[in-house]
Amino acid sequence: MKAEILAALRESDGYVSGQDLCEKFGVSRTAIWKAVNQLKQTGYEIEAVQNRGYHIVSTPDILSENELRSIRKTQWLGKKIYYEPVMGSTNTRAMQLAEEGAPHGTLVVTDRQDNGRGRRGRKWETPPGTAIAMTFLLRPKIRPNNASMLTIVAAMAVVRGIEDETGLKVGIKWPNDIIINSKKVSGILTEMSAQIDYVNHIVIGIGINVQTEDFPEELRDIATSLYLELGRKINRAALIEKICEYFETYFRIFLQTEDLSLIVQQYNSYLVNMDRPVRVMDAKEPYDGKARGITARGELLVDTWESRKLVSSGEVSVRGIYGYV
Ligand code: ATP
Repeated sequence: MKAEILAALRESDGYVSGQDLCEKFGVSRTAIWKAVNQLKQTGYEIEAVQNRGYHIVSTPDILSENELRSIRKTQWLGKKIYYEPVMGSTNTRAMQLAEEGAPHGTLVVTDRQDNGRGRRGRKWETPPGTAIAMTFLLRPKIRPNNASMLTIVAAMAVVRGIEDETGLKVGIKWPNDIIINSKKVSGILTEMSAQIDYVNHIVIGIGINVQTEDFPEELRDIATSLYLELGRKINRAALIEKICEYFETYFRIFLQTEDLSLIVQQYNSYLVNMDRPVRVMDAKEPYDGKARGITARGELLVDTWESRKLVSSGEVSVRGIYGYV
């Protein structure tokens, strides 16, 4: 009921009377009073004024199922929320939940991710209490070899969400690193369980540096946070909600064609590598060229001095010749 009380308080610009809340939820005034007190203990500032009722003054930057549920506006994503304060990796947890039958659209969130993973066994650092670490669990009816494009769908959602919540200028380093001022603010890791022609489930993990004030030495040159770029702290739950809304939008567009043809143009407008020299860190032999945007299947077009190459994600990293971007 706490999520519903929060939602009711947020819906009203002024005060909501205890009596109205009792009637709405069919419980006693004491039950409402207790729930409000518990919310206060978790950091919500809620005022109770005689004869007028309850009023929400401020929301702490906490991630909890109640908080996320109380602000949810999406249609299917996050209908089921799985929150735990500490997890190894939200992707690993989501994979387990999928095996146990968790539905399409389950949102897995933690406040502290101890063992965050990047591509090819790399580590993703999640300083406790400062970051967003979340995973979308999907069971889409798409062909397995179309699944990797969802990573680009997710990148679009993250970029648009961050832009809306911060007003910062945000870009994408192909395929899915989110960049502000040439540094990485967010990474996305998509993993899948599939048969040859059937997707069991896909998990899309999104890590975002939100309130982070400082990074480990080895990341200082390539990582940044929304706080460092903006100079103020933003609410993590609100950003999660925005990204979920955008993911629903772009996912719907993706399903219309089962490729990125309706997204390519917009994606390319965010691509920091566009028309710039890049080094493709190909496993066999790295090579240099100029990035020319993505195809409808999400491959990066790279013009080298001799030919045009199609670079698939998963295989390679792309770097700016003169630095990370
Ligand atoms: P790239 O193209 O940059 O090599 P990638 O897409 O292969 O990246 P990911 O798997 O998304 O990389 O992320 C892992 C890498 O991101 C790590 O090797 C590290 O360099 C960097 N990293 C780890 N934690 C963070 C963080 N919190 N913020 C920014 N960068 C991070």
